[in-house]
Amino acid sequence: MAAVDCGNTLPGMRYKSILLFGAPGSGKGTQGKILGAIPGFFHSSTGDIFRSLDLQSEMGRTVWEYSSKGRLVPDELTIQIWMNYLKGMEMINQFHPETEIIVLDGLPRSANQAKILESTIDVLKVIHLVADQAKMVERLRRRALKENRVDDASDEVISRRFDVYQKETKPVLEYYPANKVVRVDAGQHQIRVLSDIIKTLVPLKEKFDGEGEVKPG
Ligand code: ADP
Repeated sequence: MAAVDCGNTLPGMRYKSILLFGAPGSGKGTQGKILGAIPGFFHSSTGDIFRSLDLQSEMGRTVWEYSSKGRLVPDELTIQIWMNYLKGMEMINQFHPETEIIVLDGLPRSANQAKILESTIDVLKVIHLVADQAKMVERLRRRALKENRVDDASDEVISRRFDVYQKETKPVLEYYPANKVVRVDAGQHQIRVLSDIIKTLVPLKEKFDGEGEVKPG
């Protein structure tokens, strides 16, 4: 496959990002959607992007081959699709990198993806949503019925998704400095989870906005 073009629209600038990190069913999507509705934040979920691909296209079918079995989509392909999506969003004026922080949901999902993205994203914080596995499995089973998700429909695929999380995704946590990782108890009531995340984001956002202001004199 061709090398991944991670070139930004703004030369030399890395996208300011926070990572929503956690096992399947830990609530990344739920919290990410809410955070993305706050002015100055842009939510991007690789799972949602993948599910929106046309199954008639070769790319859509390739992604489906992996995701429906609970496996990770290959790193280069994942990042290529995500970059195209982000650039498209910039082009149609839905994403404004100068004023918005990306809430990354589901990316990076392997240490290699974190490495590839190093020159593209500036990770301000990693929000690690931590919950009991039995609770997460319960959520996935409910979601399978509500959202018609094939990857949650069988216990075999769910179990593979947890294996993949332990083996391939968890090492992402070690990739970033420990002082950037914030643990949030994802077993709490949803509004408490949100409140804990927001407490972390407020100072980051204030700093980000302050840096963007043109100082007089
Ligand atoms: P969940 O919310 O349960 O964690 P997602 O919607 O984020 O699930 O992702 C669904 C599936 O899409 C994953 O199981 C995987 O197959 C694929 N996927 C999503 N993000 C990535 C990624 N960064 N790299 C590779 N595969 C991914």
